[in-house]
Amino acid sequence: MKYKKNFKNINSHLGEFDNLGTVASYIPELSSVDPLKFGIHLTTITNKHFSFGDSDEKFSIQSISKVLSLVLAYKLEDEYLWNRVGVEPSGTPFNSLIQLEHDLGIPRNPLINAGALVICDVLVSHLKNPKQEFIEFVRTISNIETIDYCNRIAESEKSAGYRNAALINLMKSYGNIHNDIDVVLDFYFHLCSIEMTCKELSQTFLFLASYGVCPFTNEVVISRSKSKRVNAIMQLCGFYDEAGEFSFKVGLPGKSGVGGGIVAIHPNKYSIAVWSPRLNIKGNSYKGIKFLELFTSETQVSIF
Ligand code: GLU
Repeated sequence: MKYKKNFKNINSHLGEFDNLGTVASYIPELSSVDPLKFGIHLTTITNKHFSFGDSDEKFSIQSISKVLSLVLAYKLEDEYLWNRVGVEPSGTPFNSLIQLEHDLGIPRNPLINAGALVICDVLVSHLKNPKQEFIEFVRTISNIETIDYCNRIAESEKSAGYRNAALINLMKSYGNIHNDIDVVLDFYFHLCSIEMTCKELSQTFLFLASYGVCPFTNEVVISRSKSKRVNAIMQLCGFYDEAGEFSFKVGLPGKSGVGGGIVAIHPNKYSIAVWSPRLNIKGNSYKGIKFLELFTSETQVSIF
């Protein structure tokens, strides 16, 4: 497959997107990122690599890490997990409080902030040293020892994290948070702070294109059935209240973050990561979504 040619060709049509949207501004570490950064990396399940642009530069993966925490919690809790968090698209912004009260403290899905906070609570219950054990899990599945949190970003997240504090307090009042709120929030803010390059991100998610098996070690990360379900959740809930639009235009399960990153999976084929920091009104990378739309159109492969 000549993906590199696709990347170059599609990029030549994306110039008009360079000035659309705005970089996330709620913390200085995100607002100071060069808005014109653009990177792509595709890793096939046979470990072939194709990259373009700023694909080797680290960026803040933000909410993309919510998929990885979900995977670890699902592995530990099995189907009991769904007693505390749903699997329905929310149709509301990622940090919405309104729906949570209506749903009596049970978040619609694990990829909105409320759901990710419940997942963090589950991990705090299971793990002795959640931050350390979680980052080791990420390093193992990606086969990259250097992946880490950015403490500066975690601190900034904390100082700006009023809505997340509101969400977790509301859920605590409904009995859906079992541990100390500050401990769970601290873990959550660290999850948001993980940094990766496009190459590292696409490599990290490759096991979800390989039916739950880590292609680098051949170890089962999660069962085939669980991997199918995690992909289904990404398909339905991975882009906040723009998940339908992403599915419609791109046709792959994926997850975005407010750092401008997107990762998408084609089961049995590849994992692709794109990074462009300018976000649309829903908080998703403008150019990243457009690139993926053109990529699945030009290659004529999607899961549908
Ligand atoms: N740090 C962000 C928050 O919790 C994550 C947002 C995102 O990437 O969706 O508000």
